[in-house]
Amino acid sequence: MKSWACAIALAMAFASSLSAQYGYFGQNKIQYRRFDWRVLRGEHVDLYYYPEEEELGRVALAYAEASYDALERRFTHAVTRRVPLIVYASHSDFEQTNILPFIPPEGLLGVTEFLKRRVALPFRGNYAEFRHTIRHELVHVFQLSLASQTFGRYPRFRQAGMPLWWTEGLAEFFSAGEDSRDEMVLRDMTIAGRLPSLPDLAYAYGGLVYPVGGSIHRFLAERYGEWRILELYNDIWKYSSFEGALAGVYGRTIDQLSDEWQYWMRQHCISSPAIPRRHSCSSRPRAATRRSTRRVSTGGGGGRWCRGSAASSSNPSTSSSRGST
Ligand SMILES: [Zn+2]
Repeated sequence: MKSWACAIALAMAFASSLSAQYGYFGQNKIQYRRFDWRVLRGEHVDLYYYPEEEELGRVALAYAEASYDALERRFTHAVTRRVPLIVYASHSDFEQTNILPFIPPEGLLGVTEFLKRRVALPFRGNYAEFRHTIRHELVHVFQLSLASQTFGRYPRFRQAGMPLWWTEGLAEFFSAGEDSRDEMVLRDMTIAGRLPSLPDLAYAYGGLVYPVGGSIHRFLAERYGEWRILELYNDIWKYSSFEGALAGVYGRTIDQLSDEWQYWMRQHCISSPAIPRRHSCSSRPRAATRRSTRRVSTGGGGGRWCRGSAASSSNPSTSSSRGST
């Protein structure tokens, strides 16, 4: 079992970004090979690649620009900065990245850095996974851009920290949707009565935040409308806490939303005379199977969000606690 976790410090966009080398035992990473970096410029994205992966770079740029256009429509927001997207031809090449101050574990699929809003990811031989990760990370770029816009307008605003189930769940909701493993995990938790409550997820950082957060976003969009997502980003400056912003935008307390989501899950996952099953656990067609691995963790640790996967684990872990950071 591979298990890896970014340290969590989800102070969105305000966490200072580590410098490229900082924290690596005071030394630069060993560079086993020198990359001859080139740039492909799209309409919104600067794609960094090296000659050995030129074809992959062109594919990545096409994916990224298509994702940008889709996300611009869904967020009704334009990112004003160009997006640096750095692609590595393999995980071993990715290990040399200076965007991370540590050697990325094999399960790490991609990362978005807060300060320079750079996205970096390796190609692991699976184009569906590659495309999913690019869009997932670009959702984070939009989230950071929205936060930056809020700070620009309301400089005295102190950010109400967003939990990972919101940020990562939205990245999943807007990227590829659930796969069969996600649905299995969600169905199992629902049938076993082990669905976490939204307040319990406040500090959760394990792999569970992806399928659970995505499911919560699907519920919120279906019940209250997707437009409220942007409303929350636009209005969060009015509130001192994320829970307050949720209540203001959705007109329900977080406990009420939690109960409604859990009931919605039971409706979707359990077939019984009392609760007729409406659909599958996923309220929309599942994403085509895109990987045989499982995401394990993300986090805002050290000023970045990550997307990871891990193979051969059957016990999705989550860690949640209230009243601690
Ligand atoms: Zn993420």
